[in-house]
Amino acid sequence: MDISGRHSVMHCLVWLSVILSVLFLHRRAGEAVQASGTALHDGSPQKPVAVVAIIIDDFGDHRSTAEAFLEIDSPLTYSILPGRPMSQWTAKRASAKGREIMLHLPMEPHRYPEHNPGPMAVLSHMSERDIRQTVKDALMSVPGVIGVDNHMGSLITEDPRVMRIVLEELMARRLFYIDSLTTAKSVAYDVGLSLGMHVAKNRVFLDNERRVAYTEQRLKRLGDIALRHGRAIAIGHVARTTAEALQQGIPELEARGVCVVPVSRLVTQEKSP
Ligand SMILES: [Zn+2]
Repeated sequence: MDISGRHSVMHCLVWLSVILSVLFLHRRAGEAVQASGTALHDGSPQKPVAVVAIIIDDFGDHRSTAEAFLEIDSPLTYSILPGRPMSQWTAKRASAKGREIMLHLPMEPHRYPEHNPGPMAVLSHMSERDIRQTVKDALMSVPGVIGVDNHMGSLITEDPRVMRIVLEELMARRLFYIDSLTTAKSVAYDVGLSLGMHVAKNRVFLDNERRVAYTEQRLKRLGDIALRHGRAIAIGHVARTTAEALQQGIPELEARGVCVVPVSRLVTQEKSP
């Protein structure tokens, strides 16, 4: 990261602490933050009024696409699949740029094995011991992990027994968990809260359609949600269209007073709005 990039991140982090403090005080006072999100806005685009984290999932297979994201001068969060040819390379390169690294833990989806999450996946037929070992192996294969989200996992994240075991392994290592919400019936976020973990939820999938115009629209939606609630998390994937849309879309978010921050700043131990 160059000096201007570092300065921009520091600027965001200072304002993030101000925004979260004000949100906390508002909640304590029983006041709702106004839907316009203008509580802190004094008309200057230099002062962020909301913060977002953007997680990019599915790193680990292709070096050239990873490089397209490494060129983006914004603190994106890299979620990396375990045991893939470029897993370690991507983690080291992204860490060297000061980016946060997450493990993108494969989990069994509905319609498995037609939909296959790949190697090192947590599967529903596994014993408790095998689940714990799978999580440990996956964590070992990606250096520098500070949190985890799920790759696929629509079946597993609906299963409180398996999720509890997975999350206990993460909690023992002081890792946070982001529920990707690949199913509306996911219990992962609530199980994490019940264990006292730091957790958060995905609010916006950025690239269900791999088109630049689609992802730019989703980034605008992310900005709307963040301005309403003060903060929001989005998930995108390793796709060239997503990288291109972010290059255009992040400066537009910043112009609206929405700052991109590393995802660890947005995880909490209490229920978010
Ligand atoms: Zn994935």
